[in-house]
Amino acid sequence: LVTRAGNLFTTHTGVAAGFDRFAPALFGQYLGRYAEQKLGITLQDLLALGRANPADSSEPFNMAYLAIRGSGSANGVSRLHGKVSRRLFMPLFPRWPEEEVPIGHVTNGVHTPTWDSASADELWTQNCGKNRWIGTADSLEQDIRRVSDATLWQFRISASKSLVEYARERLSRDLAATGAPPEEVEAARHLFDPNTLTLGFARRFATYKRPNLLLHDPQRLLGLLANAQRPVQLIIAGKAHPADQAGQALIREWTSFIRRPEVRPHAIFLSDYDMLLTEHLVQGVDVWINTPRRPWEACGTSGMKVLVNGGINLSELDGWWAEAYTPEIGWALGDGQEHGDEPAWDAAEAEALYDLLEHDVIPEFYARDGRDIPTAWVARMRNSMASLTPRFSADRTVREYTEQHYLPGAANYRERA
Ligand SMILES: *Cc1c(COP(=O)(O)O)cnc(C)c1O
Repeated sequence: LVTRAGNLFTTHTGVAAGFDRFAPALFGQYLGRYAEQKLGITLQDLLALGRANPADSSEPFNMAYLAIRGSGSANGVSRLHGKVSRRLFMPLFPRWPEEEVPIGHVTNGVHTPTWDSASADELWTQNCGKNRWIGTADSLEQDIRRVSDATLWQFRISASKSLVEYARERLSRDLAATGAPPEEVEAARHLFDPNTLTLGFARRFATYKRPNLLLHDPQRLLGLLANAQRPVQLIIAGKAHPADQAGQALIREWTSFIRRPEVRPHAIFLSDYDMLLTEHLVQGVDVWINTPRRPWEACGTSGMKVLVNGGINLSELDGWWAEAYTPEIGWALGDGQEHGDEPAWDAAEAEALYDLLEHDVIPEFYARDGRDIPTAWVARMRNSMASLTPRFSADRTVREYTEQHYLPGAANYRERA
């Protein structure tokens, strides 16, 4: 294994079932000749590289085990995922203490220029310069902190207007395309209000992401949405894998809730979740909600996309949020412990989510000063933009990969070769 010294394996899932595994007979059928004729080793020797116990001829071939064995270093994609991965790969390091299993982490970041709106680009350019995402980004935090409450709030109001226009346009088009009655299509053109608090939730509908946690108590949710003094509007978007029956059922739960006449003015479901739709959502929502079951969200990146645009995260303490969260920059769900898929815990977290919205998020958004600015909200938003945007940008991620892995790996490889 000459190249081993220069190989880096980045593991991307926190779930053992996420690793590809193949039965030995299947593996032999397709790769037996390759092992013997091209690699010059026996099929058994090749299979051994993908097994926790190389001597166990019944053990399937695990691709992630092969990757670890063939790499000089390995990493997870957030701090918590590094820890989870050390536990998942313990079978390959018998007798090693868990914390010494040689897997580190590099937390993902998003390519900020892909996700910022035109007006976010303008705001950051005015305050931090044109080449702000390139280099070490040291002064960004101070520079963006200097922006006034009035400027930041004006920026958010116009973001909210753009999103409401987009949602109206998109929903009325979707309704027309599916043959909805003309009055419903027309109603969609007047839906929502740019001055109302907008919550966004867009996900692949996989069960570990708990896309229906917010729907745990539909009446309580409706009560929050339809409150006359402090209304809330909700945009849900998502897609489930065509073979994922459970995920499809979760989508139906949302669509039937939203079809209720009393819910319809306050919530919409947008289908065909893709990057274009994500772009509009992350640029315009006030709060981005994420409710995975800890610790199964390896990193999660969609919440990072709202940072540059002044959106605030309300998320389970999982993936990136477990290392990013402090009370001044957003809201956290969960106790920072693992509870598996225990239904009683899901119920407790759903109640905690409603409490958080009712007692913290909604009142803060509607607490206005004499200029109609929610000053505590704007302060939280400024903290989130200033301290998180540079930290969770791809620029920082690429630098860490280069310094911690690529450069040492290249040197090790040269030496070995
Ligand atoms: C960012 C993004 C994702 C990843 O979102 P997570 O919250 O990390 O699951 C998935 N799909 C699309 C279309 C995205 O833009």
